[in-house]
Amino acid sequence: MCIEFTEEQKILRDTLRKLGKDKLERLTVESDRADKFDYESLRLLKEIGIFGLPAPVKYGGSEANATTLTIVLEELGYFSPSMACTLIGHLALVRPLFLGGNEFLAERYFTKMAKEELGAFCLTEPEAGSDAASLKTKASLEGDEWVINGTKCFITSGGVADFYGVWAVTGPGKGADGISLFYVDKDAKGLSVGKIEEKMGMRGSQTAEMIFEDVKVTKEYMCGGVGKGLKLAFEGLDLVRCGLGGVSCGLAQAALDQAIQYMKTRHQFGKPIAQFQALQFMVANMAMNIEAARALTYQTASLYDSGYHGIDLITKASMAKCFASDLCMRVTTDVVQIFGGYGYMKDYPVERMMRDAKLLSIVEGTSQIHHHIIARNLFS
Ligand SMILES: Cc1cc2nc3c(=O)[nH]c(=O)nc-3n(C[C@H](O)[C@H](O)[C@H](O)COP(=O)(O)OP(=O)(O)OC[C@H]3O[C@@H](n4cnc5c(N)ncnc54)[C@H](O)[C@@H]3O)c2cc1C
Repeated sequence: MCIEFTEEQKILRDTLRKLGKDKLERLTVESDRADKFDYESLRLLKEIGIFGLPAPVKYGGSEANATTLTIVLEELGYFSPSMACTLIGHLALVRPLFLGGNEFLAERYFTKMAKEELGAFCLTEPEAGSDAASLKTKASLEGDEWVINGTKCFITSGGVADFYGVWAVTGPGKGADGISLFYVDKDAKGLSVGKIEEKMGMRGSQTAEMIFEDVKVTKEYMCGGVGKGLKLAFEGLDLVRCGLGGVSCGLAQAALDQAIQYMKTRHQFGKPIAQFQALQFMVANMAMNIEAARALTYQTASLYDSGYHGIDLITKASMAKCFASDLCMRVTTDVVQIFGGYGYMKDYPVERMMRDAKLLSIVEGTSQIHHHIIARNLFS
């Protein structure tokens, strides 16, 4: 399958590449060192309309397809992985709105996205990670309003987002069929930010606990109907998993480019280390695998864009996410090895890349969970 980017996609990619080289790369280093949310990169990305990309044209967005979003995420993976994660959390709220949003919800939240407001995906809880169906946050109907109570953890953009998609139990004892999805504005009464996490990597993104204490929303803030929330979450994840394949390819490519540059300039035993075949083969292996991950990722995006949303897409999205993120971890680790002792120091960006990479095989389904999904679908 040959995937050709359109002229618009190439322009968007080149715009991001220029912004990346001119500004995002430096801001990534600064926010990592300061361990602070990268507000400046967020502002720059909003300025070029990145967070409004997925919203339908009807609401003022660009209605970008999965391929375009993957291109964006690959570039962000290269220059600003933390902003890529920030965008991923936002994107996870897009497909549920397309599939389950009533007119009020679609208008309200797609318009917010089109105005570059940021969304955050609130599924995980302290006792419910991979096993999302075991979540405990509750929503009970009191008169015309749903009242939400519970605590979400590890929420990307928690405390910096403008709105939240929150999953809560509305049918106790019904497992996955007893969970519903609500959209909640940041200034809702009873919504507060708990612990802000100190992380190994992706330190330019914010990860926080979000506490819901008697947060009240009217019925139209429920997306997809009672008990339909988890299904919507999982359907939304195909796009996100494909996007994470893109982030992983971008970050792995950034590390590989660093290695190639360094190998030409570092001399040992009287010659550039680029002349050692052991290292050349490592680089060749990385390049081959990145190409393979990229092909799988864009093939999955293209399948998504064809309108097909069946089991093959679920399997491929898991394969792309799992293959590319595990590869990214291997590549960034090998690149630190190629840099030797210098790779371990903060003078070069490769140690940060290795720390950032670790997250990619944990979020939106760990690699173990993706192996499980792929195997389950193969045997079904
Ligand atoms: C920086 C960061 C940002 C995040 N952002 C968000 C966000 O925006 N929104 C959100 O909702 N969540 C977010 N998460 C949560 C993330 O999706 C979860 O951490 C992830 O799903 C794993 O859940 P867990 O951490 O509870 O691990 P667990 O589910 O407790 O897993 C522990 C280990 O057991 C393995 N395991 C679990 N079940 C199985 C099984 N059936 N078979 C084999 N192995 C298994 C896992 O692979 C893992 O190795 C974020 C996490 C991090 C670290």
